[in-house]
Amino acid sequence: MARIAVIDKKKCHPDKCGNYLCARLCPINRMGEQCITKGSDGKAVIDEKLCTGCGICPKKCPFGAITIINLPQELDREPIHRFGQNGFALYSLPTPIFGKVVGIIGRNGIGKSTAIKILANIQKPNFGKDHDGDIKEIIAYFKGTEAQGYFEKLRDGQIKISYKPQQVDLIPKQYTGTVSELLKKVDEKKQYETIIQELELTQILESKLHELSGGELQRIAIAATVLKKANVYFFDEPTSYLDIKQRIKIARFIKNLASDPEIAVMVIEHDLIILDYMTDMIHLMYGHESVYGVVSGVKTTKNGINVYLSGFLKEENMRFRDQPIKFNPPIVAPQTRENTLTEWTPIDYTQGRFHLTAESGEINKGDVVGILGQNGIGKTTFVKILAGVLKTKEDNALKLKVAYKPQYLEGGEELVMAALARAIQKYEIQLIRPLNLKDLFMRKLNELSGGELQRVAIAHCLSQDADLMLMDEPSAYLDVEQRLMVSKVIKEMMFTTGKSAIIVDHDLLFIDYLSDKLIVFDGVPALSGHVTGPYTMKQGMNTFLSGIDITFRRDEENYRPRVNKEDSQKDKEQKSTGNLYYT
Ligand code: SF4
Ligand code: SF4
Repeated sequence: MARIAVIDKKKCHPDKCGNYLCARLCPINRMGEQCITKGSDGKAVIDEKLCTGCGICPKKCPFGAITIINLPQELDREPIHRFGQNGFALYSLPTPIFGKVVGIIGRNGIGKSTAIKILANIQKPNFGKDHDGDIKEIIAYFKGTEAQGYFEKLRDGQIKISYKPQQVDLIPKQYTGTVSELLKKVDEKKQYETIIQELELTQILESKLHELSGGELQRIAIAATVLKKANVYFFDEPTSYLDIKQRIKIARFIKNLASDPEIAVMVIEHDLIILDYMTDMIHLMYGHESVYGVVSGVKTTKNGINVYLSGFLKEENMRFRDQPIKFNPPIVAPQTRENTLTEWTPIDYTQGRFHLTAESGEINKGDVVGILGQNGIGKTTFVKILAGVLKTKEDNALKLKVAYKPQYLEGGEELVMAALARAIQKYEIQLIRPLNLKDLFMRKLNELSGGELQRVAIAHCLSQDADLMLMDEPSAYLDVEQRLMVSKVIKEMMFTTGKSAIIVDHDLLFIDYLSDKLIVFDGVPALSGHVTGPYTMKQGMNTFLSGIDITFRRDEENYRPRVNKEDSQKDKEQKSTGNLYYT
């Protein structure tokens, strides 16, 4: 059986494990062979041909640096790309289709970005060797598959690529100057005026790139990508940092690109409602995080997302989650004095030019209340006022114990293990295991990635001895799988402990899955915000969606919300009856 041995070099510290503990314990080494050796960089190296997969070294390495995996039989060939010996291996590629938007769904660390970089000709595949392959080798590798035709066209100059990278926060480091200077420079299509209107960039054209927010940089990166003359467009996570209204707008915009049969579009996206809305077909990616990744065959979007939620790929005989994710219609407990947890009084708060008002509201014991609204209209301010982090003249802070997870997380020198001491002691099964936090225990908070820090902060907040958990954007930086897991964890914690939560988020599926009720924000970004609710889910969604011009139906298999096609019979019917979300 093919076997892969991956060593996470960041975690391998031979000087701290007692001098190559793994090599000293490996039975093959003990028989006199060189299965685990010292690499030229001083880190451990495993010879996959000699390794028998006995499982000793992954268990004994004190830093969890080693993963040994037996690969599925069909992967008994060289990978398309490998990040060095004992590095991550990618085994297949998705295929762009002309006239269609093709999506890629899968967890982080499974090779999604690498796959599209290879298709976009940014990363040369090395086929597991120590040098990059040339186009001849690539075409030969894919002989008889759809990808062969794609790479032949690329070789013959029939494909021109435009690519939006994932990390838009790096743009100010690569370009100085203003937004208009950058966009005019890349405007090969001479569509500058149209695109800035469509992506609502007119207000920030003269701003310097380093002055902009993540959401503004995201829209600029998308504008720059589409202004280039190309016939294959790649978008790596085009909706991060955007609010729901902007996500829908961007999804429509990207969808529209592929209405030209000569254009192929490929996107990586973690927001399942947006992925569903934006794409025609999808590939699922599975494997083992940071070890290997495989791309499934192409599926229709509806079927592909349902397969993803079911956790089992039938054709590949691959289970990637223990349990399926299903959505249930919300059950609303009646509001009575006995089950009210807390109430807040009307809020009237001014900060500079910004003015926030909120009607009074109350929350039930055990309820999860979602907050929906666009960026810049005071959602975080509202949550901070309730948490007592921001003081108001009337003192609107809730008079009960509140645990608060802020939107922007800061990591200090503390070890994860120390930060999560209470969670480890009390909620090993409910929090530590499902959020996969054990591997992070020995790392410092300031060494964690955005997604790792987010999971730690969520576990920390949920483990507090508090009556109400206030969480600001818990889905940010998380991949689709982690979002599904976090929503499940929060819901189950509230159910079993009887505590309550208020959650601000932009991922509508996440909010739908979690929430019993909704608070809705209305207003003008940077100027004013007005808060109403909590509403029932039906009332709340109808109030929120009336400003966005979309309607939702439910998937018959798992009851997940799906955006209706504009002007379809369902869309028209629902708009006429005012049932925009639940029918
Ligand atoms: Fe030590 Fe683990 Fe590195 Fe092996 S992989 S040398 S046990 S730290
Ligand atoms: Fe050696 Fe392989 Fe066993 Fe590790 S899993 S101890 S490398 S034989």
